[in-house]
Amino acid sequence: MSANPLLEDLSLPQFDRIAVPDIEPTVDRLLAEIRQTTDQLLANEDPSWERTLRPIEDLDDRLNRAWSPVSHLHNVADNEALRAAYNACLPRLTAYATEKYQNEALYQTCRRVRDGSEYARIGTAERKIVDNALRDFRLSGIELALNERQRFKQVKQELSRLQTKFEENLLDATHAWKKLITDASALTGLPETAQALARHTAERESKDGWMLTLEFPSYRPVMAYCANAALREELYTAYVTRASEQGPHAGRWDNSAVMDEILRLRAELAQLLGFKSFVEYSLATKMAKSPQQVLDFLGDLVRRAKPVAERELEELRAFAAQRHGVNTLQAWDIAYYSERLREEKYAISQEELRPYFPVPQVLHGLFAVAHRLYGVRVAARENTDVWHPDVRFFSITDERGELRALFYLDLYARPHKRGGAWMDECVSRRCRPDGTVQTPVAYLNCNFTPPVGADPVLLTHDEVLTLFHEFGHGLHHMLTTVDRPSVAGINGVAWDAVELPSQIMENWCWEQEALNLLGRHFRTGAALEPSLFARLRAARNFQSGMQMVRQLEFALFDIRLHMEHNPAAGRTVQAVIHDVRREVAVLQPPDFNRFQHGFAHIFAGGYAASYYSYKWAEVLSADAYSKFEECGILDAATGREFLQCILEPGGSRDAMDLFISFRGREPNVGALLRHSGIT
Ligand SMILES: [Zn+2]
Repeated sequence: MSANPLLEDLSLPQFDRIAVPDIEPTVDRLLAEIRQTTDQLLANEDPSWERTLRPIEDLDDRLNRAWSPVSHLHNVADNEALRAAYNACLPRLTAYATEKYQNEALYQTCRRVRDGSEYARIGTAERKIVDNALRDFRLSGIELALNERQRFKQVKQELSRLQTKFEENLLDATHAWKKLITDASALTGLPETAQALARHTAERESKDGWMLTLEFPSYRPVMAYCANAALREELYTAYVTRASEQGPHAGRWDNSAVMDEILRLRAELAQLLGFKSFVEYSLATKMAKSPQQVLDFLGDLVRRAKPVAERELEELRAFAAQRHGVNTLQAWDIAYYSERLREEKYAISQEELRPYFPVPQVLHGLFAVAHRLYGVRVAARENTDVWHPDVRFFSITDERGELRALFYLDLYARPHKRGGAWMDECVSRRCRPDGTVQTPVAYLNCNFTPPVGADPVLLTHDEVLTLFHEFGHGLHHMLTTVDRPSVAGINGVAWDAVELPSQIMENWCWEQEALNLLGRHFRTGAALEPSLFARLRAARNFQSGMQMVRQLEFALFDIRLHMEHNPAAGRTVQAVIHDVRREVAVLQPPDFNRFQHGFAHIFAGGYAASYYSYKWAEVLSADAYSKFEECGILDAATGREFLQCILEPGGSRDAMDLFISFRGREPNVGALLRHSGIT
């Protein structure tokens, strides 16, 4: 046994043996070895999948297996030394990933494999890996002439600088505004948790009273609960003018020029690569095939959702007028009166449901649903090395009793663990050179309130949804039957399709039949009463039309902006958002609203020309789930079809082909609209 657990070929990480001082030198050594071996493999006169590309893929898997536990510990059990080691390694790993797609010899090898006779003989997964690689090489500019490649690099660097600048302006503008309240009556209606946060913020600045800020946990409760309309107006105005030429800090951190420059450079980048627009460039890696397809998709949803949103707004207006004597609803009144209406209509709180969702029962129900659908059995395994006593470890075996996967379940919040819920890969499924299969392993992480005393932890219904969602990602990773890591499970799956297996799992949390398995009162064992269940279902679709048109407004603005932006011809950012709102929105915001100056999703990062993905994935999961509604929500045959058509092939085939193989046709929006109460 070697002294370094990161380099051993073990089926599971040895968390307790990882020595932080070893991390950096190990990663360096590994990267050097991988670079050297890659060069040797690429020097082969007669390259092939078997002799060249497959061994290179194995090298990447080795790197991933070494890095995964380090990156995971950084996420869930951080400390200063570990963070320093992690931060030292990260740029080196990023550099390695970037240089891969600048590697001319690797590119030529991929081309020779694709054009050679071996290509027809290798499997579907192997062909997909070669095709994906050639696509990514092209998107990295490797096919450009030398001077163009130079420009491509400059544009990329400039874009990354400007996107960071956008985010910094937004952060600075957000932090610059605050308001001290010294009279408690100004905060009437604000929940105790939000008041405590405001008191705490004031204390931190050695002030008496309540400090309100534009951070979401402070902003959102004021808008939804504070009876004081003047205060809501003041916060709203500051919030929607952040980083713009409007509002209390007009011009201080103005993103206007940054946005124009980002859009101009993105268009140039796309053009260099031969795309008509940045939208086409973005869609090159997506399930959606063309800008028109996305526009039609969003337009269709707008047509169906807008009349419903208009009716909901009318209801809200009537409610505000009749019950509160407010005859004109301003932008800063919408959230407030919506909350009042919600309380009156449904009278349901997350707290009321908690006693029905003790963790052991929820896990029992979750695993029972997976068993009914996919035939798998989930069983706890003791005595596995974990990073915290609360972490549990499970195995998944299939109908033939074969071990398919293993996973760690880390449910509770604690210091030094990052927030939110997520699934991460620990080990990917892979066929080793000796023919044996490397069992996939997943990390499932949530941030639920930790156990206190002897009572089981009780979850809210929202938390149950979160757990099902992440477990869905986990099943995608773990139940794959693809033997090549680059396209096994979630790997290689298009961005706008990867949420299908996770979102579909949420549906079972809204069904009485499934809730009977996972929702039982922790003291009495009673199932959810029908009246409580009915209220839960009804509240699910409160203002779903208004919410949907708002999301559609963002998505259409994102796509159209990346196609139409041309300030010289009058197509400014403001002009595009104005046009989109006229078409889509049921509520026109005030003229000073500069929402776009804070739209970090598309200007600072990953969702540029991709914001539609949220709705796209919802359509896929709702439409796929509707097959269960037709055949029985726990129907084993339909479950096995989903397993074989979607989960097992993972990223080895085109997402649309997989969807069609399951559903028998292309996705349509009907089921999502029906589930949202919009028909
Ligand atoms: Zn997800």
